[in-house]
Amino acid sequence: MRIGCHLSVSKGFDKMVERALEVGADVVQYFPKNPKSYRPKSFDPDEYREMAKAAAQAGVASVCHSPYVTNLSTPDPSLRAISIASIVNDLEIADAFGTDYLVVHCGKHVGEGRERGEQLMADAINRVLEQFDGKTMFLMENTAGQGSELGQTIEELLSIYQRIEDKSRVGVCFDTCHGFASGLLDFDDWDRFAAEFFDDAFFPLVKVIHLNDSKAPKGARRDRHELLGQGEIGVENLRRFLAEPRIRHLPVIIETPVADELDYADEIRKAREWAGI
Ligand SMILES: [Zn+2]
Ligand SMILES: [Zn+2]
Repeated sequence: MRIGCHLSVSKGFDKMVERALEVGADVVQYFPKNPKSYRPKSFDPDEYREMAKAAAQAGVASVCHSPYVTNLSTPDPSLRAISIASIVNDLEIADAFGTDYLVVHCGKHVGEGRERGEQLMADAINRVLEQFDGKTMFLMENTAGQGSELGQTIEELLSIYQRIEDKSRVGVCFDTCHGFASGLLDFDDWDRFAAEFFDDAFFPLVKVIHLNDSKAPKGARRDRHELLGQGEIGVENLRRFLAEPRIRHLPVIIETPVADELDYADEIRKAREWAGI
């Protein structure tokens, strides 16, 4: 099982890989551009490919996380066009770095209702994929269900996925904090959760795990990450999740509120111990 964390790429992809090795990560996640911006970033693909060689040599895999500001379900045509262009740009950047997956948060229906929001989101993903022909796969991340966020249950994620035209290019990133906060990931009823999560209709779509503890209690529908083992999910439940043999092949990314990037070394050590590796 690959275990790593989200790191800054601002000093270059090669420097980020050095930092990943320092904290014991064999997979790393980064933002393709300023996470508060959707302005497409111009870049030199050859330069990016060159910087990414260090990652391949060191055996460090990568995951790219799209900025938060886009909304794939917006009914506003100009924000929709901006969101689509921004995500196409993120995919191109990720692809130049040789990154397998781009994680994108599910949209918000902003009062239009779930059905219309899901249709807009799937249409936007279809438009994005028409404009991108690289290898990087598009992953929808499950949400905590704050406000009008879509994609907080497995049923909702599947409802969006069913409307995707090229299904082979789309998957899911599962965040434990979001799942706990939405009520999807219920350790008090693990059998019900496992039956739904590991079902053949859903589990093959899961390509990346975001491993975070939660400051907010179960079902609170608030997205507040906490250090591993120090939140409402707790050590025992995180251990149970990580020890599950069926997730062994998935890369695990930690996005907890560490004071300093070097503190991810402790988080990664804990996660490896709980996973029994
Ligand atoms: Zn996440
Ligand atoms: Zn989150």
